[in-house]
Amino acid sequence: MENKKRCAWVNEQNELYCDYHDREWGTPIRDDGPMYELFLLELFQAGLSWITILKKREAFRAAFDGFDVDKIAAYGEEKVVSLLQDAGIIRSRSKIAAAISNAKIVISLRQEFGSFCGYLWSFSNGKVVMNPETGYRATSPLSDRMSADMRRRGMRFAGSVTIHSFLQAAGIVNEHDADCFRYQEIMETLQESSVIYE
Ligand SMILES: [Zn+2]
Repeated sequence: MENKKRCAWVNEQNELYCDYHDREWGTPIRDDGPMYELFLLELFQAGLSWITILKKREAFRAAFDGFDVDKIAAYGEEKVVSLLQDAGIIRSRSKIAAAISNAKIVISLRQEFGSFCGYLWSFSNGKVVMNPETGYRATSPLSDRMSADMRRRGMRFAGSVTIHSFLQAAGIVNEHDADCFRYQEIMETLQESSVIYE
């Protein structure tokens, strides 16, 4: 593993970060469970470093009922108060409130599109989006479109930068560096027809 070339942003001194990069980041997710988990974690990440969230991930899992969207959507004030006292997570009232209201919207998307993944992947017709010519980018045409639609539906903490970061993590966008070993591994799992360049 140590000899493999990774994306330049990966801190190779940190095993948790390497592991996340090697096994999760950029790998296309097609199941609602892991997809919603990342979506919720991205909301809490806003303004903080991703490693901070990764370190707290298991505390989040315990605090948020294993990332069960139906349970989260039903949280009341009593649960909010207990979350605000949980030192293991990010104790932000506005983020906790947004997580609860967003969970309700995720449930309505699931009803409308069959699944949360069905909604998210509909923006690229189920295809992985990439653009090797842009290099690093904080947003993409895809994240602009999705963010606008989510905000229209009332989603909070759903700006284009946050959504682009989420899409990269969820593998709807493949933005591993072209010389990262995961770039090629992911491309090998995809057919030419399941990639679009945008
Ligand atoms: Zn990479």
